[in-house]
Amino acid sequence: MDFDYSAARKHLLEIGACDRCIGRQFHRLFEGMDQGAIGSKVRQSNSLAEARHCETDKVALKKDCPLCSGYFLETDAMAKKAAELLAGLDYENFLVGCRVDRALLGREEELWVEIGALHCEPLKKDLVRQIGLELGKATGKEAEFTHPDVTALADFTTGKVSLNIHALFVYGKYKKLLRGIPQTKWFCRRCRGRGCKECNFTGKMYEESVEEIIAKPFMEKTGAKGEKFHGSGREDIDATCLGWRPFVLELQQPLRRFLDWEEMAKEVNSSATGKIEVQKLRKSSKEEVRRIKAARHDKTYEAIIECENDASDEAIESVINEFQEKEISQRTPDRVSHRRADLVRKRAIHGVELEKKGLRLRAVIRAEAGAYIKELISGDSGRTKPSFADFLGPCKCVELNVLEVHDNV
Ligand SMILES: [Zn+2]
Ligand SMILES: [Zn+2]
Repeated sequence: MDFDYSAARKHLLEIGACDRCIGRQFHRLFEGMDQGAIGSKVRQSNSLAEARHCETDKVALKKDCPLCSGYFLETDAMAKKAAELLAGLDYENFLVGCRVDRALLGREEELWVEIGALHCEPLKKDLVRQIGLELGKATGKEAEFTHPDVTALADFTTGKVSLNIHALFVYGKYKKLLRGIPQTKWFCRRCRGRGCKECNFTGKMYEESVEEIIAKPFMEKTGAKGEKFHGSGREDIDATCLGWRPFVLELQQPLRRFLDWEEMAKEVNSSATGKIEVQKLRKSSKEEVRRIKAARHDKTYEAIIECENDASDEAIESVINEFQEKEISQRTPDRVSHRRADLVRKRAIHGVELEKKGLRLRAVIRAEAGAYIKELISGDSGRTKPSFADFLGPCKCVELNVLEVHDNV
């Protein structure tokens, strides 16, 4: 449908639209010009050519405009309220959102049916742009559309502004030097976190976790309301992780977000001496959480093995030869079957070094992500095939350490 300039103009004047709402319907015909100024020109001129050249009057806004209910008279006040709320907060950029009376959106639809929507901009887009401009001037910060630190929501139905402070994501790598610490908070199985006799009223199965140790200084520093820990895989509770494992810590609704990464690393490391170390801290994003959760890094493990019978040099040699680029089948071990589906998974074992160490054996194993190393050694009563036990006789892993997370191959 062709756009009829003078018919559209006539209709808008008849319904008593304000200059801003008139101008918005001609938005794309006046490249880069303020909507109010466009409206003023259109109101004065009965042809597009004339409107393009005429002078701008004072922009006429009014409370009884049928298309905006006078919202554009309130954008200044909304921006001011937002600036006040933002004043106590760390943020680099913001996004503005708005809520308007639904009846206005219905009327906007009807208008477009009447005069065509070829050159228009929607009401809400115009409102948030105007508030954003004013808020930018008031705060000296910029609008950001994809990853804003904070969203200011202007509710024109109540006249109120509220803030949605977006999470701060922190990337880092950790080492776990001590056994017996789970990676994430583990709620008591009996009371599910409420606290009971069994968990000594802590609500937790373990006193501390990698998550809590790392998060604590960040929670204090940022004043965040909550946190989530996203590890790139996890080691067993009774295994150490001596290689650097990537993680992202998500801090929810932080009041402070400008952090000195060196200082934060020092704080974590000094509060967790002998347990946890972190390094390479920096700002991260939701996308990186997805990436590190999906990443399937090879790992190199050290395993200390006890055999029921003395292992012969021949048997040791056979294990080394067998598990070079070997595909193994692992049925879900009993010990994790409460949280993982019972399936048979194929995993690659890339290589094994094996040597005698006193009465025990020491293995260094490079394996694909998701391989169960304890079961690779013991055979897990035939659930993992083949296994070290096929060659060494009954044996088990008594100590497991992650030596390296190969996160850059
Ligand atoms: Zn209006
Ligand atoms: Zn409990």
